[in-house]
Amino acid sequence: MKILIKNGRVIDPANGIDKVTDIFIENGIISEVGEDSDLKGVEMEIIDASGKIVAPGLVDMHVHLREPGQEYKEDIETGTRAAVFGGVTSVACMPNTTPVCDNEAVVTYIKSRAAEVGYANVFPIGAVSKGQEGKLLAEIGEMAFAGAVAISDDGHPVENSALMRRAMEYSEMFDVVVISHCEDIALGEGDMNEGAVATSMGLRGISRAAEEVMAARDIIVAEAIGGRVHIAHISTKGSVELIRQAKKRGVRVTCETCPHYFALTEEACLGFNTNAKMNPPLRTAEDVAAIKEGLCDGTIDCIVTDHAPHHADEKNCEFGYAKNGIVGLETSLGLGIKCLVKEGVLTMGELIEKMAVNPSRILGIARGELGVGKAADIVIFDPDKKWTVDITKLHSKGKNSPYDGFELYGKPEYVIVGGEIVINQGELMK
Ligand SMILES: [Zn+2]
Repeated sequence: MKILIKNGRVIDPANGIDKVTDIFIENGIISEVGEDSDLKGVEMEIIDASGKIVAPGLVDMHVHLREPGQEYKEDIETGTRAAVFGGVTSVACMPNTTPVCDNEAVVTYIKSRAAEVGYANVFPIGAVSKGQEGKLLAEIGEMAFAGAVAISDDGHPVENSALMRRAMEYSEMFDVVVISHCEDIALGEGDMNEGAVATSMGLRGISRAAEEVMAARDIIVAEAIGGRVHIAHISTKGSVELIRQAKKRGVRVTCETCPHYFALTEEACLGFNTNAKMNPPLRTAEDVAAIKEGLCDGTIDCIVTDHAPHHADEKNCEFGYAKNGIVGLETSLGLGIKCLVKEGVLTMGELIEKMAVNPSRILGIARGELGVGKAADIVIFDPDKKWTVDITKLHSKGKNSPYDGFELYGKPEYVIVGGEIVINQGELMK
């Protein structure tokens, strides 16, 4: 398929481009960027992108696709379908499946399943430890050779510091990054952020220290051995400051946050709203301000969704029993535009950097840019066009979103994956 995207504002931070121009796609790759190409007589699909932004497809490096084993929550087909509706053309999926993705066979299964039914590119993440039990290292080399792009015990912390050290050492040999879910289990026991709101609701509070103690530990271990670590879903002012200082010292640490940590506060839990229950928990306005500052000054490298679909029954229950996590793939771009770009925290180019360029670099995947010869993964949207979230209409199997009724901007109108139009004028093509 040949596609010409005309007159859009092309934002390609990796190549320093932000201008109105055309993009020509041929055989799945970008073959030209510019207006003066001679395409007379060439048969092709033309997309008029006047007034819209043309950006690299988003890369979400923290997604739970739930397959294999938990398909009642989500599967690779529905998860990647939700992804493309959100403008996400590549997802890295976490290994806390059933069985755990801790060996070559599961990595290979996920990749072949994605090739068969996926709407977006899927990059599996392998476990740090066998069964994510935190005892023995998983087969890191074997998984990396099979295509795992990172290792993580996400969902659980790696409690044993020596195991974390060995994970950083081994992963270096195979050039995959360790993604750390930072939580001190004993300190982290609870239902929501520790403070007045939790007390007023009679719920057990989770201290910020639960996250910060582990973030500090990981930074210290990485610094001691010259290792590399990526800290997942940071939510507190203290974590931002720890990472800011570590980066200044030259520690090889990167990190991510999620839209809910800059769009919501702990007050979203009021009324025992289980769709606001997550781990780490929603924090305070002071933390939200610090997260925005960390995004603005470059301390926080990436915005990821931590897309965590659950069955309705796992959320329609007492707050204390409800599962942690929310779906996020279909609302992340809209929240980024609303809470960061419209509020002057980030430019559109910086938002795309954090949602496409930096995750690609951290994972070492050839995505997140629009240069000639690159994979044609593209999202086209109007950043000023409003839309309203209706959680009953989400394409994920999980409807556990706290954003029902939110007015957001920039719903993707066209999404191209590997040179194929997957979303056309907001509609799924296949
Ligand atoms: Zn996690």
